[in-house]
Amino acid sequence: MNSQPPYSSSDAPPEGGWFPVSLRLAGARVLLVGGGEIAVNKGRLLLDHGARIDVLAETLNPVVQSWVESGAVRHVGGRADEAALKEHLPGCRLVYAATDNRDVNRQVAALADALNIPVCAVDDPQPSSFITPAQVRRGAVRVAVSTGGAAPVLARRLREQIEALLPEGTGRLAAYMQSRRSQVSERYPQVQDRYPQVQDRKRIWEDFLDGPGAEEARNGNDVRADARLNALLDAERKPGEVWLVGAGPGDPDLLTLKALRLMQNADSVLYDNLLSPTLLDMVRRDAELVFVGKQRDRHALPQDEINSEMIRRAQAGERVLRLKGGDPFIFGRGGEEIEALVDAGVAFRLVPGISAANGCAAYSGIPLTHRDCAQACLFVTGHAKADGVLDLPWDDMADRRQTVVIYMGISTLPQLAAGLLGKGLPADWPVAIVERGTQPAQRVFTGTLSNIALQASEAQVKSPALVIVGQVVRHRVVSP
Ligand code: SAH
Repeated sequence: MNSQPPYSSSDAPPEGGWFPVSLRLAGARVLLVGGGEIAVNKGRLLLDHGARIDVLAETLNPVVQSWVESGAVRHVGGRADEAALKEHLPGCRLVYAATDNRDVNRQVAALADALNIPVCAVDDPQPSSFITPAQVRRGAVRVAVSTGGAAPVLARRLREQIEALLPEGTGRLAAYMQSRRSQVSERYPQVQDRYPQVQDRKRIWEDFLDGPGAEEARNGNDVRADARLNALLDAERKPGEVWLVGAGPGDPDLLTLKALRLMQNADSVLYDNLLSPTLLDMVRRDAELVFVGKQRDRHALPQDEINSEMIRRAQAGERVLRLKGGDPFIFGRGGEEIEALVDAGVAFRLVPGISAANGCAAYSGIPLTHRDCAQACLFVTGHAKADGVLDLPWDDMADRRQTVVIYMGISTLPQLAAGLLGKGLPADWPVAIVERGTQPAQRVFTGTLSNIALQASEAQVKSPALVIVGQVVRHRVVSP
């Protein structure tokens, strides 16, 4: 396999590089500077996480006062001047500068920072070395939402949405899974260099989460959840399989729900050039990404090597996702791949995708059929054979009552246009090119059989691009 996939996250690092972590606060000392309402908010959160809070503030509001009286919080001093801070900062795990005076907060931040103690000046990311994300909590489960201080209101809104999404019993489910962890691990002990064992463990838990046991645990019916879990533990180990999935033409919103679910469950993903990094970002983080496409100066991996790689992995028990641009059965060699799987006795699932023709048509506003002028639509490949010859049904393609969609037709566009003119189509017959259809960089060109090749070369149109030939191009509509 090619070892270096041309893949990195499509996300640029956020400004400030804010990196989310979960910090152990139980029993840790935290300095809270300020005794007013802002301090109360942060104090509550810190107490919830078991921190030991020292408050530095001249006046305490009644809530903070009550914490001090109950012994939950220590009031260690008044003014947050340099001397007081130098006395109380050392040994703190975190510092919150939570007064209502921005200058004071900034001074606290500067001193804490000089001592390398993580500090948050509330509502003021600039001098802070950490910020507090919005949280959704379900028992041990924490979902933190942060916009890196860019848009706190958005963070809160997103938190509300996640709040609605996470079932109430999620905390109970986490607690159940924690209490049964050792039972599952004992069944599949981690033997050195035996990766499959770990895979098996993960698989048991994944099957559990996908099955009815998870709902039982969410509802607190641990006995019934155990019955489900034990059934999974006693079941035969499931063999691997291959999922041949169409990922559509690029816009991630055009993935099917099924494609997305399988992307979240696969152990490994075999992908090639057509796949945009944005799509690969949606694959589960710990899946192995295997690039099997063309690299600069290198030919694509021969088809039989791709096939044997899929088969080898599936036979080792992996759930292999073969992710394809567009639809696997339209110029995607999906047919050949599943034949190889059948021959090897490997189970597979097929998931269709939106093909480039559908995606490009919709995103460029060109219908593929039209009552007035196109009663049929023909998909052809413009890919020439090794000897440079285009082996195409030219007579069919020159039928005027249809649309012809040409995949892989950019490098042979002059030949294609000449061929159609030669079959009697008029010089002003409409043609469109959609480059990088459905993606942010999409470009659309319209012209005629006589001028489209020149246009394409002048605009340096590159693959992937789709050619649409026929009167439908005149019906192109663009939203006002
Ligand atoms: N299975 C794919 C096609 C693979 S052949 C599908 O169903 O779409 C590769 C060709 O598809 C490219 O050369 C190009 O002609 C077309 N193509 C794929 N993605 C495209 C896109 N986003 N925009 C324009 N054309 C695309």
